[in-house]
Amino acid sequence: MQGLMMDVPLTITSIIQHAESVNGHKEIVSVTRDNPRHRYTYKDAFSRSRQLANVIAGWGLSQGDRIATLAWNDYRHLEAYYAAACSGYVCHTINPRLFPEQIVYIINHADDQFVFVDPDFWPLIEQVAGECSNVKGWVVMATPENMPETQLANVYCYETLLEGQSDQFLWPELDENAACALCYTSGTTGNPKGVLYSHRSTVLHTYATLMPDALGMSGGDVVMPIVPMFHVNAWGNPYACPVAGCKMVMPGNKMGDGATLAALIHEEGVTMSAGVPTVWLNLLNHLRSEGLRVDTLKQIVVGGSACPLSIMEEFDTYGVDTRHAWGMTEMSPLGTANAAGAHRDLHTDEEFTRLRMTVGTPIWGVEVKITDDDNKTLPRDGVAFGALKVRGPWICSSYYKLEGSEAHAEPGWFETGDVATISPEGYVAITDRTKDVIKSGGEWISSIEVENCATGHPQVAEAAVIGRMHPKWGERPLLIVVRNAEGADLQPDALKSFLDGKIAKWWIPDDVQFIEDMPHTATGKIQKTTLRDIFADYQFPDA
Ligand code: AMP
Repeated sequence: MQGLMMDVPLTITSIIQHAESVNGHKEIVSVTRDNPRHRYTYKDAFSRSRQLANVIAGWGLSQGDRIATLAWNDYRHLEAYYAAACSGYVCHTINPRLFPEQIVYIINHADDQFVFVDPDFWPLIEQVAGECSNVKGWVVMATPENMPETQLANVYCYETLLEGQSDQFLWPELDENAACALCYTSGTTGNPKGVLYSHRSTVLHTYATLMPDALGMSGGDVVMPIVPMFHVNAWGNPYACPVAGCKMVMPGNKMGDGATLAALIHEEGVTMSAGVPTVWLNLLNHLRSEGLRVDTLKQIVVGGSACPLSIMEEFDTYGVDTRHAWGMTEMSPLGTANAAGAHRDLHTDEEFTRLRMTVGTPIWGVEVKITDDDNKTLPRDGVAFGALKVRGPWICSSYYKLEGSEAHAEPGWFETGDVATISPEGYVAITDRTKDVIKSGGEWISSIEVENCATGHPQVAEAAVIGRMHPKWGERPLLIVVRNAEGADLQPDALKSFLDGKIAKWWIPDDVQFIEDMPHTATGKIQKTTLRDIFADYQFPDA
């Protein structure tokens, strides 16, 4: 027997309709190249999205065609997100930090028809446009006076296109399973792989992220997504904020600038924010050096890479709760969230410290399991390490135009490429990427845990651990460190003594090497393949 409930398609068009009728007066504040503090309301935003939809309707595209963006977090990017997807096209967000040849690859692989570009990325377009022959037009997200000089054909000015367009547009009725957005992963090897989100998966992910122990924003919050809209849809913030009715503060190209972030928090009353550990380090450095506080800020979400305990503890001193979260491009992205801080009184100090080092528990809708090399499910005892697999309605079932990926080998599950433990209470601790695990004398060492501890040293800016060959143990950990401004005299022995007692003795790296700059991927993760290349000929002193 079927239930007797309405079958209303779950589309993100409903977000526009809801936000306009209930939260239309809430503000969106953006930093852009042509305005350091642009402000308007959700009503204005969606009215301009309809103007943009009228522009796009004149381009003669077919439903499902891809329209790309190469842009920062700001109001024009938000307008483009909704105009493209709610008109029945796919908004393909491109990460401008990818190498130009990767950008060419993904524009061609996605068969992007038009590309919206922030003027900051125009030099990149000049470099790649000649190789993207299917693109019919480049729309520069700027006013006429900020348009770049160019010899390229089919270049349009965003504001000129919108001028005089009607703000009435009848959004089409879309199938909830229709694609709405596309984002390529920035793997360290091979070509980037496309993850194609549907309206349905995005709506369900939005509901889930809004749960109190997930991201949990509400109408009273002022949310600053620092995580880029070109990286997994800014962790869903551009959908969740209009639903909840949060004021949004978008830092544009200043997302890595501690001073701008501190000013935005203070002046706009930001209560919640989300970003990768590096942006928090920038903010903390600025607050420390200028003796500033962030009194309105209540909660930050940290993900994308492991969040060192030292960041959480420093934010504690500002009265800010750090919510550690884990996910992936393939997961829309949210998989787990750590709300232990919201239930602090349930835990002893020791328990709390142990719990907050994990990435929390799966949010409702995401199932997780860990398996061994024979694909046998491992116990949830907080000790057994295994390949972390996930399933759920906002997890990709296959990559775009790529059949039979290894990650989808087990039907119904997606293999994340992460190695984890799961505690009896369901807390997931990520110990490594599968490709980065270190096996010493047949036993695994968690490079993430060693890195977290090393980053806690007051003279360390960044730390990475890689495995190197060892004649006796097979592999041993090598710690690679970038010293911070106070770290000029930091020596390997001092670091090793610092780690002593904080991690198992046999996890302590055999050696420490100092470098000037840590190599990073396009999404800000430490690029261990490059480190392994740099230290390819390295030999331990006792080897
Ligand atoms: P991306 O698809 O670029 O967002 O990268 C996803 C990967 O980032 C995951 O598979 C993890 O390896 C890593 N990652 C994300 N969040 C965390 C976290 N909180 N702790 C450790 N690794 C993380």
